[in-house]
Amino acid sequence: MLVEHILTEDQKAIRDAAREFAEKEFPKYSEECDLEEKFPFELWKKAAELGFIGMSIPEEYGGQGMGILETCLVVEEFWRVDGGLGMIMASTFGSEQIQMFGSEEQKKKYLPPLARGEKICAACYTEPQAGSDVAGIKTRADKDGDEYVINGTKMFITNGSIADYYIVLARTDPNPPKRHMGMSVFVVEKHTPGIQTNKLTNKLGIRASDTAEVVFKNVRVPKENLVGREGEGFYQTMMFFNVTRIPVAFQAVGLAQGAFELAFEYAKNRDVFERKLVSFQMTQEKLAKMRTNIEAARLLAVQAALQADKTSMPDPGLTAMAKYFTAKVAQEVVHEALQIHGGYGFMGEQAISRMFRDARILEIYEGTREIELEVVARSLLGKVPSVLGMVRKHPLM
Ligand SMILES: Cc1cc2nc3c(=O)[nH]c(=O)nc-3n(C[C@H](O)[C@H](O)[C@H](O)COP(=O)(O)OP(=O)(O)OC[C@H]3O[C@@H](n4cnc5c(N)ncnc54)[C@H](O)[C@@H]3O)c2cc1C
Repeated sequence: MLVEHILTEDQKAIRDAAREFAEKEFPKYSEECDLEEKFPFELWKKAAELGFIGMSIPEEYGGQGMGILETCLVVEEFWRVDGGLGMIMASTFGSEQIQMFGSEEQKKKYLPPLARGEKICAACYTEPQAGSDVAGIKTRADKDGDEYVINGTKMFITNGSIADYYIVLARTDPNPPKRHMGMSVFVVEKHTPGIQTNKLTNKLGIRASDTAEVVFKNVRVPKENLVGREGEGFYQTMMFFNVTRIPVAFQAVGLAQGAFELAFEYAKNRDVFERKLVSFQMTQEKLAKMRTNIEAARLLAVQAALQADKTSMPDPGLTAMAKYFTAKVAQEVVHEALQIHGGYGFMGEQAISRMFRDARILEIYEGTREIELEVVARSLLGKVPSVLGMVRKHPLM
């Protein structure tokens, strides 16, 4: 890979270890977890033992203290083999809020069990009527003495029915001056009375990943469970997405790489018109375009990760651009890769069929394709702080 020259020896070693693990372990679970929509608890535990879970959690809280790029290299390798199984890395999803904004007590209590692969976290933002429009959430957290009382329904929550901790965005001010104001983030533990989860089944892709509706009915949490500052929830959540969209870009790169490899191998072995499929100019052109786009996508993703690691704040414009472009490339690559498999790709028995289904989520969760483009456009216009806003005036103008 061209990116080889950018990575340090340590980073290459992490990537290679992740590749070895995914190649050896994932095939044992792929089919069963996809067909039966089962979270691979055993695989998740093995990954945690090897340090692949909660990699970015600081060492003092039981993690590896790795940078975003290191974590993302593992994401890419996992998704290259199987995206649904790769979602084991999302078992800590939501805990970034605690890492970035939580109190010392919250970090000590919640992060170590997540890093050890003993507990699972879920991030609850989306609601039935509010997905892209985060400011449209209705879930309330009303103060009552030293407690907050949470009421509301969260939709499409990754790990929703298997989580031990829920990170919940809720309204603490029912009448804020602007609709994105007056929200706060809470950590809620699984056994708190009033939580009901409904696993959502029959998903198109990433079926090994658990997705659920989570209902909070008069759920009482102590004020110590407020993560960050009251009223800052929307801003915290936007910063959260600036970080977590980068691994999604690497999910896309990994999936595209895997689909390309399957298609290349298939084309080398499939006989059509008494020749190998790969010997046709049209097939070669397809493969060449796929490979070129993957490399461009990978470089953009690496740029977003490097930028995030080198500064205290990921650049929202670069992050959105990387997620948008890599997801787009992944769609195009799986499309052509399935085409190369012909009817065998469509019949569902090949890994490429699963990848085709898995790819679709990349343009939907953690910001749809349209929302990513909107962030890029707002960055260009200087409405979002980003290097993309530094557009020089052309000398001929
Ligand atoms: C498998 C899965 C896992 C998920 N995991 C989580 C999770 O862990 N936590 C969580 O909180 N959420 C999660 N989500 C929710 C996900 O983030 C939302 O589905 C996503 O943000 C889109 O919201 P929506 O589905 O309500 O669509 P909508 O926001 O209703 O959008 C519908 C369509 O309209 C477009 N659109 C919206 N606004 C505009 C605009 N201004 N201009 C142009 N087009 C626009 C969208 O791009 C989209 O194409 C998950 C979803 C899925 C499917």
